[in-house]
Order: sequence, then structure tokens, then C-alpha cells
Amino acid sequence: MIDLHSHTHESDGTCSPAQLIDEAVCAGVNVLGITDHDTFAGYDVAIPLARAAGVELVCGIELSTKLHGRSVHLLGYFLEQDRMAEFREWVRDMQESRRDRNIRLVARLRELGLEITLEEAEARQRGMTGRPHFAQILVEKGYVSNYRQAFDDYLDESARGYVWRREPQFAEGIERIRNGGGIASLAHPVRVNGDVPALMPELCDWGLNAIEAYHSDHGPAETDTYLGLARHYGLMVTGGSDFHGVVKPGVLLGTGCAGNLNIPEDLLERLREQAQMSRR
Ligand code: AMP
Ligand code: ZN
Ligand code: FE
Ligand code: FE
Repeated sequence: MIDLHSHTHESDGTCSPAQLIDEAVCAGVNVLGITDHDTFAGYDVAIPLARAAGVELVCGIELSTKLHGRSVHLLGYFLEQDRMAEFREWVRDMQESRRDRNIRLVARLRELGLEITLEEAEARQRGMTGRPHFAQILVEKGYVSNYRQAFDDYLDESARGYVWRREPQFAEGIERIRNGGGIASLAHPVRVNGDVPALMPELCDWGLNAIEAYHSDHGPAETDTYLGLARHYGLMVTGGSDFHGVVKPGVLLGTGCAGNLNIPEDLLERLREQAQMSRR
């Protein structure tokens, strides 16, 4: 079984790289893509562990980008280790921009009368501190009654606590991934806030390579729609559960939600071939 979309505790998952590899072995996943948000830290730690466990690890990342002002996730796969120094440098830059945003976000929330510190937000996880962590703290401290309200009242782009951060445009994300020898895939298209079929010509112009037709948020009709778009535009197909561990208890590695995921293994061959070709 293959699964090309998973998270470790280096972004917002709950499993360590070692636990994730164990999960893969238990679930019968023999090809695993680790796609942490804006970091390779989990992937790097997992390399020797996967080798020892007989799991083939696919180098991946999930970038937060902006597309016409909206937040859209972009997956990068098979980045070439010797060619990706520049890409890693750029990813570190993005982490820096997030940290800078978090400092200003804490200042803004304190201005609004909320007792919150950067230290407590950063203590929530190892890598990447994001707005979801701030939301949890606001809920726990009773400033809001739930996660949704934390965004509505403070953290959403339209809310009074929002502070801007430098985020790459979707097109830049594609270009960076491809310059690193990788393959760029539109993550969970069902979550794109917009008309995906209408966006496709533009995304293809920018060099998008693939679309994540198989995802635990997709029903059969959605998967068919995205497979159809891939066929129509000559794109490759990727798929994964988007496993996050106990924070998303309904999503299992390899099989998704109640077995709704069934990723054909032959899509890997095409991805590998393309990655090889783009390196020549
Ligand atoms: P960040 O990258 O730190 O700016 O946080 C972005 C993450 O916050 C997204 O990936 C979502 O998980 C979450 N998020 C953003 N806006 C909302 C919203 N309005 N409601 C709930 N979650 C949101
Ligand atoms: Zn995530
Ligand atoms: Fe995502
Ligand atoms: Fe994800």
C-alpha cells in the first residue's frame, strides 16, 4: 500500500518520525511520503528509520501558499537531494517569516487584552508554530468557547487579531519545487476555496505537475472529478491520507477515513519517471 501524504510532530502531526514509521509498518504501507508543513525536519530524521524498517520513504513537503489571496496547499515530491540546497534555504526563510509573524501576532493579541506569550505557543510542538496552536490556547484560557470562534474573533484574515505574514504565491511554490528537481501537486483540491476546474488552465501554465485526486477528504465523486481534470490537462495523480495522528483520529495511514482511500500503486511509477526525466 502507498500513502504519499502524512505529517509528523515536526509540523502539526502528533507522531514522531519513529512512531510514524511504526504506524506505516503496522498499516502495511510500504511507500510513505512525509509531507510536513514547510519543513523537512521529520523527513530527515525518518530516513534511516524507514530504511531499517523496509519502508520506502518519499521526500515530500506541504507548502502554505497564496492563490488569488486565498490560502492553498501545494505538495512537493521527489526533490533531488543534491539539487535542493537552495530550496531548503528558501524553506528556512519561510520558517523565519512565520516566527516573525508569531512575534507580532502575540503583540497584537496582547494589545487586545489577551494574556498570551510566544513561549507558550511555541511549547505546543517542536517545529512550525501556527495559528491553530494560538487558537487552542485561546480556547483553553477561556477567551473563546471553541476553535472556530478563535478564528472568527481573532485569527482569521478578516478578524481583528490578524497579522500579515510573508507567504509564497502558489506559482512561486511550483517554480521552487521544480527548480529543486521535484514534482508539484495541488493538495486536497476539495479544500480549495474556489472553482478548481476554472483555475486549472492557470495552474497548468505555472507548471503544476500533478493533482492529489486521492485524499481522505474526497468522496468517490470528488476523486472522479479530480481524476478527470488530471486526464484532461495531462497531469499526474498523487494520493495520501493526510495522516496527522491523534489530532485527526478518524484518518488512518494508508486507508483514510473508514477505508475511503484506495490509492492505485501504479501512479508511483509515473511520478518517479517524471522526476527522473526532469533531472536530465
Ligand atoms: P498559519 O499558517 O499559521 O497562518 O495557519 C494557517 C492554518 O490555520 C490553516 O492551515 C488552517 O489549519 C488554520 N486556519 C486558517 N484560517 C482558519 C479559519 N478561518 N478557521 C479555522 N482554521 C483556520
Ligand atoms: Zn497539517
Ligand atoms: Fe493541507
Ligand atoms: Fe497535510
